[in-house]
Amino acid sequence: MSATILDGKTLATQIEAELAEQVAEYIENNAHEPTLAAVLVGDDPASAIYVKNKRLACERTGIESRIHRLPSSTTEEELLNFVAQLNSDDEIHGILVQLPLPVQIREQKVLDAVHPLKDVDCFHPENVGLLVQGRPRYLPNTPHGCLQILHRHRISVSGQHAVVVGRSEIVGKPLATLLAAKESHLGPLVCNATVTLCHSKTKNLAAICRQADILIAAIGRPKFITGDMVQPGAVVIDVGINRTDAGVVGDVDFAAAMEIASAITPVPRGVGPLTVTMLMHNTLAAARAQVA
Ligand code: NAP
Repeated sequence: MSATILDGKTLATQIEAELAEQVAEYIENNAHEPTLAAVLVGDDPASAIYVKNKRLACERTGIESRIHRLPSSTTEEELLNFVAQLNSDDEIHGILVQLPLPVQIREQKVLDAVHPLKDVDCFHPENVGLLVQGRPRYLPNTPHGCLQILHRHRISVSGQHAVVVGRSEIVGKPLATLLAAKESHLGPLVCNATVTLCHSKTKNLAAICRQADILIAAIGRPKFITGDMVQPGAVVIDVGINRTDAGVVGDVDFAAAMEIASAITPVPRGVGPLTVTMLMHNTLAAARAQVA
């Protein structure tokens, strides 16, 4: 058996086209563009690429982007003051502070300072709390991208055993919460899973992964999930992005898993493009929330 490839790039293009129409309608009704402010502190090359990709996605969907580059010597107080300015600027609907930040700045402090309505990454404790309580204001972008892949391919997780490997605040933990939720705004297919959340202290990881109907890897280790960890017929979502000498690879041994799974996301062209698209979705949602 050879798995169906869940092509995230094609799906992202399709969702962006839908968003572009919704953005155009928003502009017609409100006489201004939804606007995203991206704050880039320092000169981390990977961060610069991520911010550029987000700017290009804004251009494709009709969202206005304002990129603010601050020097790596920026102090925490200076960045907090800058975020406060963006919070009180009515022309800005979404604020994105690109991580990582220089060592002298506490990331949590800065993320907590973003106004919850402008928190398009869904990192603010108020938004995380709403998510955990099953009444999300915004969905975090990478978990939302994973749900969109399942939803748009009509893959049901309801009643299925979903194993999420990785418990980060950005990916694994919120994704496990969403999969286990009673309801989803995307419909009944992408909630009500029975979820096991694994991490570096999990015992018998391979045996747990082999029980997964839906196996999601968000670890940050190249090809960590080997073929013998995949149950025949499982759906595999690979969130990992690992730069190796052989190029960018995921957390799953794609060639091996491909022969065992029923469906699998590739890396690249998998979850990554959808993460950026979901940021556009949230920026439009944030603009709507602020004109309401
Ligand atoms: P992270 O914050 O480093 O978290 C990694 C998680 O993996 C942790 O929970 C860690 O466990 C767990 N882990 C590490 N080694 C393990 C092991 N040997 N066995 C089981 N679990 C283990 O990473 P992240 O931010 O979630 O990112 C994960 C990957 O996804 C990275 O490759 C990142 O580049 C990628 N990513 C992709 C996108 C996208 O758009 N596609 C977005 C974000 C991240 P502990 O908690 O016990 O340490």
